[in-house]
Amino acid sequence: MNLEVVIGLEIHVQLATRSKIFSGASTIFGSAPNTQACLVDLGFPGTLPVANREAVAMAAKFGLAAGGQVAEHSVFARKNYFYPDLPKGYQISQYELPIVSGGAVEVAVPGQPPRAIELTRAHLEEDAGKSLHDALPNATGVDLNRAGAPLLEIVTEPQLHSPEEAGACMRSIHQLVTWIGISDGAMEEGSMRCDANISLKNPNDPQLGTRTEIKNLNSFRFVERALRCEIRRQGEVLRGGGTVIQETRLYDAKLDATRPMRDKEEANDYRYFPDPDLPPLVLEDSFLEALRRALPELPAARRERFEADYGLSAEDARRLCENRATADYFEAAGQACGDMMLAARWVTGDLAAALNRDALDISASRVGAGELGVLLARLREGVLSGKLGKEVFQAMWAGQGGADDIIAARGLKQISDTGALEGIVDDILASHSDQVSQYREGNTRVFGFFVGQVMRATQGRANPAIVNELLRKRL
Ligand code: ADP
Ligand code: MG
Repeated sequence: MNLEVVIGLEIHVQLATRSKIFSGASTIFGSAPNTQACLVDLGFPGTLPVANREAVAMAAKFGLAAGGQVAEHSVFARKNYFYPDLPKGYQISQYELPIVSGGAVEVAVPGQPPRAIELTRAHLEEDAGKSLHDALPNATGVDLNRAGAPLLEIVTEPQLHSPEEAGACMRSIHQLVTWIGISDGAMEEGSMRCDANISLKNPNDPQLGTRTEIKNLNSFRFVERALRCEIRRQGEVLRGGGTVIQETRLYDAKLDATRPMRDKEEANDYRYFPDPDLPPLVLEDSFLEALRRALPELPAARRERFEADYGLSAEDARRLCENRATADYFEAAGQACGDMMLAARWVTGDLAAALNRDALDISASRVGAGELGVLLARLREGVLSGKLGKEVFQAMWAGQGGADDIIAARGLKQISDTGALEGIVDDILASHSDQVSQYREGNTRVFGFFVGQVMRATQGRANPAIVNELLRKRL
């Protein structure tokens, strides 16, 4: 029995505001427990929440960037449940009237054509605190630093059909939220967490199968791995004639297996109702218009422009638009040297390799875009050969200065002076008369030998095009 995989994601993105969504406490990551929870976050009676304008603006920005509807009128609602890390006994979220409805993201699995995945909605909510099970002997601690951190929950339609697509969808959302600057996207700090809903069905069945929800997946890799496990498990249940139970499950990376956490709760278990402490959220046209105008060129538009204006391949355009810093770097380097193709080759080639080797982000590159541009200009002008270009780049990377300094200090300037090269070529031909006769008897492969000799005599600095031309003429 061939079963079709159906996946929908709920992705929690932490918004990059300085203070929390309903209080003035700091959102900085990694402080000592409970040093960043104020009375509002601690749920003290008599305190009142105030919505953070910046968090609202960021959510609206996402809606605009994803092509969704940003509601002029949305409502904060209480989602009631008890847990030690939730002192108020409810989480402030949005329910019936979220700030964003609809929209789509482009999902590209390598080797497959990109696909648009529709978004159901995106809503604002506060994060809960964290239980610390290893911090104290024989006790569990509660850290409320994260309580009240601003989250945007992005919900996709059940339109993903493989773990790889789900991973690609999460990457696409990560790219978009970091691109528009609403999240730092720091996965290792939990700035993006995913709940993955999955079901299997007979391809001819119009109805979706019963789903399970795998909670709290905090890396692209874990999303894919957890889904692979769950597809296997549900497949075994269904092929064995059983039924899948709708429930919430957890992924255990050590065991590479999912296990049940709790029965699926229904919306009415949470007794949602509009939060009486917060007025409806009303966005004025001028507020949205200002956000729309301030949006940067988005990844898809920028990719298309790179292909159309610079003649880049789709693959290179995609790589250069993986994040905004790379796209900016590439354009700056290309403009500095006047050759976008050359810049594309170097940014995806030698620069990417060097960054990768030193595990550096492009924003921390040891060679700036303008500096790379100077090096590429010297390549274009024929001052440097390709081989010497690589040597100069490595020296720049090692902090030995700019391209021109290194060229001067090492005497690396390519020899393009025909007169100077003629003398060298003549000397080499005179001292290798055997090889000259071989060439003239038809063994043209010795041509490479002569080129090598000239390069040796000039420490690799001879302009190869001129050397070729001179040798051909003389021979
Ligand atoms: P809840 O809020 O109870 O988790 P929703 O109906 O809002 O449930 O759906 C949450 C997510 O589950 C969405 O991403 C949706 O696409 C996905 N989903 C819903 N039904 C299914 C299904 N049968 N199989 C796979 N995913 C599903
Ligand atoms: Mg859910």
